[in-house]
Amino acid sequence: MKRFLPFLCCLLFLAGCTAAPDAAEPAQAQFFSMDTVMSIRVYSEGGEDALQAARQEIEGLDKLLSRTDPDSQISLLNSHAGDGTLVALDDQVVQLLSFAKSVSQLVPGCFDITIAPVMDAWGFTTEERHVPSAQDLAAAMTLVDSGKLTVDEAASAARLEQAGMEVDLGAVAKGFAAGRADAVLREQGVTSALLDLGGNVTTIGSKLDGSAWQVAVKDPQNTSEALCVLSLEDQTASTSGGYERYFEENGQTYHHIIDPETGYPAGSGLLSVTVISSDPMLADALSTTLFVAGPEEALDFWRSREDFELVLCTQDNRVIVTEGLEAGYRPAAEDRGYTYEIARR
Ligand code: AMP
Ligand code: MG
Repeated sequence: MKRFLPFLCCLLFLAGCTAAPDAAEPAQAQFFSMDTVMSIRVYSEGGEDALQAARQEIEGLDKLLSRTDPDSQISLLNSHAGDGTLVALDDQVVQLLSFAKSVSQLVPGCFDITIAPVMDAWGFTTEERHVPSAQDLAAAMTLVDSGKLTVDEAASAARLEQAGMEVDLGAVAKGFAAGRADAVLREQGVTSALLDLGGNVTTIGSKLDGSAWQVAVKDPQNTSEALCVLSLEDQTASTSGGYERYFEENGQTYHHIIDPETGYPAGSGLLSVTVISSDPMLADALSTTLFVAGPEEALDFWRSREDFELVLCTQDNRVIVTEGLEAGYRPAAEDRGYTYEIARR
């Protein structure tokens, strides 16, 4: 995925340049955090201090939430799995755990942050990715159950009830960080900014000329091209796709978004899901969830809610755009074999 960031950035930067040619140079930073490349561009006057504060916020959250950092809060929680300890945690970590548990209820069987042992069985946490043996996978699957993650918000603490269980916040941490960074920027008076936290693009306000940001959704089959371009203001577009992290074995491709019911990469008929919402954490969690759910269930769920819109790219080359985006989206410039449809409520 990191390979293709320059393209996305390029589109965003172009959008900024063409729309606001006389604007002052934005304050900008590109850095590596949460295992991905991130960029922040602040267009408001005097944005450098705000940008540094937002970056520090994200890097601080990475330290709290990383599963591979032995000193993180998540490592602390994981290290006490099954020993009965209610582990005292930072308030915001507890809130995030509580939110992640609630997402598991929204679309049952699709989202579970206790998926970590299965990610390990596939080797996704290392560079040695491989298809696990049936035995190893079955053993890992006995440890996946967010019902056995107790979150006590009043006590600001959590507990994993079974030895060997582990939490992995990879599906929500970037969206959570985007929400916090967005808040920090706004507290500092920023009214025009773009954050790209590894495929979660958050827009603050509009471009300096008052027009909407233009955010490209990548073509999952040709990630240096856009599937469509969205006009966004004060919203996040979060994309989950099998193309982001995968390996090949015996001619088969295996990606990193796991169906918690099978332990195998989700094969729901989708190549990518982009969720657009004013809530970055919700956008991130739902993009992963609805990728597992598949197109029909994703659209049913969208019809039951008012707080997000969708761009779905299906394996049979359909691009389904929900009606709330209709006025502000443009399909790919050239024909690459996709048919575009608007889903209605
Ligand atoms: P995202 O890129 O936001 O879709 O998140 C993908 C990451 O979330 C993976 O790399 C895993 O760390 C984790 N993950 C994979 N499958 C699931 C799942 N079904 N529920 C929750 N987290 C998952
Ligand atoms: Mg996600």
